[in-house]
Amino acid sequence: MAFNFCSITSGSSGNCLYIGTPKVNLLIDAGISGKRIQNGLEQMNVNPKDLDGILITHEHSDHIKGAGILSRRFDIPIFATASTWDAMDEMESMIGKIKPDHRQVIEKDKDFIIDDLIIHPYSIPHDAADPVGYTFVHGDKKISIATDLGHMNDYVKNNIRESNLILLESNHDIDMLKSGSYPYYLKRRILGDKGHLCNEIAGKTLVEIFHDKLKTVILGHLSKENNYPDLAYMSVKNELMGAGIEVDGRLELTVASREEISKIFEV
Ligand SMILES: [Zn+2]
Ligand SMILES: [Zn+2]
Repeated sequence: MAFNFCSITSGSSGNCLYIGTPKVNLLIDAGISGKRIQNGLEQMNVNPKDLDGILITHEHSDHIKGAGILSRRFDIPIFATASTWDAMDEMESMIGKIKPDHRQVIEKDKDFIIDDLIIHPYSIPHDAADPVGYTFVHGDKKISIATDLGHMNDYVKNNIRESNLILLESNHDIDMLKSGSYPYYLKRRILGDKGHLCNEIAGKTLVEIFHDKLKTVILGHLSKENNYPDLAYMSVKNELMGAGIEVDGRLELTVASREEISKIFEV
């Protein structure tokens, strides 16, 4: 039973993830151009016409930029919470007109099923209308997506527990952010309760939710200005090693690229 996962791109300038089972192909967010997403799918040998949906986490442009184009071009439904739809409708210049039967409304904390895949949207602390993360269950395997998190809390941790693969935000290094060139209001936003998760908390979270069947951790949504892939990797690795969790033996730790498509992870 294969459950496939791939990061087409992940970072503060664009997010688009792919998840697939033998019967279902989905994108989570489409925050880059339609063309780039098509290229990514092509590299994975996935025909965009075979996509069953685009799941939106929230209405920020780095998550929705290509969603409307893809939906219209390949006849793909878009799934989002009611408030996220309202917010996207206010930004019609970005997402364009979406066919009524492509407007799927989902609710946080309420599972829905597409063929052999159970999808669970859960609420995330972020400065958007009604932002959600997602967990996916196929057979006895679970994959979790958790980015755009202003802070970590028990509710998010409980949602992403028991996963076999997690894509977790490791947005910034706190010292780089504080001493960096971002204007004060932006620093405050990112560090705030509804901003983004830093490397250290990503590491500490993984220590808390680690279990034997967690095989793959992908760090994602890295900041361009306030982080380096190596720094995110080392910070999280140090937290895990400090707790006696061996990395790159039984647990694969990797960083999703801001520009390039990842390998296909099989779960
Ligand atoms: Zn956001
Ligand atoms: Zn984002």
